[in-house]
Amino acid sequence: AVQIIDLHKKYGDTEVLKGIDIEVASGEVISIIGPSGAGKSTLLRCINGLETPTSGRVVVFGMDLSDPKTNIDRVREHVGMVFQHFNLFPNMSVAENIMLAPTMLRKTPKEDAYQQALDLLDIVGLKEKADTGPQSLSGGQQQRVAIARALAMNPEIMLFDEATSALDPEMVGDVLEVIRSLAQGGMTMILVTHEMAFAREVSSRVIFTDAGVIEEEGTPEQIFGDPHSPRLKTFLSKVL
Ligand code: ATP
Ligand code: MG
Repeated sequence: AVQIIDLHKKYGDTEVLKGIDIEVASGEVISIIGPSGAGKSTLLRCINGLETPTSGRVVVFGMDLSDPKTNIDRVREHVGMVFQHFNLFPNMSVAENIMLAPTMLRKTPKEDAYQQALDLLDIVGLKEKADTGPQSLSGGQQQRVAIARALAMNPEIMLFDEATSALDPEMVGDVLEVIRSLAQGGMTMILVTHEMAFAREVSSRVIFTDAGVIEEEGTPEQIFGDPHSPRLKTFLSKVL
């Protein structure tokens, strides 16, 4: 589904990604863990074209992002992304937030888009909130709307960048439950997360990054149960 080949990214003289290689098969759930500043967000942003790599290649469902002929908007239709801060439009209802991309980019008729928004809100457990404003929702509810909004384009892969780390602890479970059900439904996903127990539970593979390189990768059992790299051991001793 996704090939990342010798990806490098520099900001000025600082190289934050130093040769990343990842191959993601359809249906895989990959968690990326690692210390602050490791380059996790930069890596995700390279996968949906929010950042341009300094060198290397990112190929998403056969579309090479480094090829100038590739239409980046088409790539983003296949790649849903959910951020730490959900950025819903406050002047639109919950349903309108979800309908925006399908009606603008796909020219989906309003009635169909509304029905689809209701179906997606049902999946994230918020159908009764369709016609309310996002400000009246809790942080966890807003984040579930943001997930529904990302799903509205029927993406083939979902990227989550610390989707729960700005939430109050009691909100985290509901959002993780939505992500868990997507994983069980076979969605291809890459999660950057600080929720180690969750990463261990849902991932097919865990990638530990540090200082712009993949330091270790393996099954959740191996990464959390039998880490080899000293840096991974140190990291886990701090976060577990
Ligand atoms: P965190 O866990 O704190 O979110 P991260 O692993 O997501 O960290 P990145 O946000 O990818 O790390 O940042 C990697 C490095 O790149 C950091 O040192 C950061 O300061 C730097 N960086 C990120 N974006 C930019 C930018 N637009 N311009 C300059 N430097 C940047
Ligand atoms: Mg980050």
